[in-house]
Amino acid sequence: MRRTRTLAGLGIAVAAVLALTGCNSGTPTDPGSGGGDDGGDAGAIWEVATDVSLEGSPTFDAMTKRDGVIIGVKEDQPGLGYLDVTTQERSGFDVDIARWIAASLGFDENQIEYKPIASANREQAIVNGEIDYYVGTYSINDKRKELIDFAGPYFITGQGLLVGADAEDAEAIEDFNGKTVCSATGSTPIQNIKANFPEITTVEYDLYSACVEDLLNGKVDAVTTDQAILIGYAAQYPDEIKVTGGLFTEERYGVGLAKGDTVLLDHINALFTDGGTTWQAIFDKNLGSSGITVDQPVVD
Ligand code: GLU
Repeated sequence: MRRTRTLAGLGIAVAAVLALTGCNSGTPTDPGSGGGDDGGDAGAIWEVATDVSLEGSPTFDAMTKRDGVIIGVKEDQPGLGYLDVTTQERSGFDVDIARWIAASLGFDENQIEYKPIASANREQAIVNGEIDYYVGTYSINDKRKELIDFAGPYFITGQGLLVGADAEDAEAIEDFNGKTVCSATGSTPIQNIKANFPEITTVEYDLYSACVEDLLNGKVDAVTTDQAILIGYAAQYPDEIKVTGGLFTEERYGVGLAKGDTVLLDHINALFTDGGTTWQAIFDKNLGSSGITVDQPVVD
């Protein structure tokens, strides 16, 4: 289904996301009923395809040979890509998009191996063939496209700010001139700050959760990355931290895959384009209560 994007502001209903991050039972266990919360047909969001053939896709050939899919993900970003270390359950919008793609290729949950890969290491993991594709808040840009291809976009957000709950005069990135801001190595937000805001001191880690720790401990003044990510953290600590200000970049999320595998690329883009209400169902399940209002973007 093709729809135009309407980014009608990102309200911040953090408490609602908190409820979601803890109870998002998104792991389909019944191979025939992907996405069903109870493993039964009633809650099914997608189905596992049968007799799939993707002639001319080296990635699909490798998947078929090993009888499984290896997907690069994030696992410390609640609401998007998250691993509950206690239950070992993975949840989030990106994780479900990744599962939907796997199902469309004929692979069920039991045939998926998830590999957590930090922002800075994504292109290399794809180039090296360590993963079949990557779904994890991965912005499409020209520099990355020199090394890999992107299907999508499947989601649009933008860079925002996370600050202490009592922070004042902290609405715009310029308010952090002379202050310290944390983001992830290799991410578009850290590159933006370094290139365009020289008066801001940067701290960087592999993971945004490490930045959030620093913010909670008063070691940095703000965390900056995509607002959709920040909303998930704010929901974890609603009394301590808050999302502030608006979006100051546009981040278009794509599925990273091996450069030149146009057969797989076309397959995923066709899934996004012709997927009916599945995208919306995945959004509603994972981000529906977050305050984010965004329609499925049109595929490039
Ligand atoms: N979307 C941005 C990027 O791809 C930030 C989020 C992330 O690091 O995954 O760099």
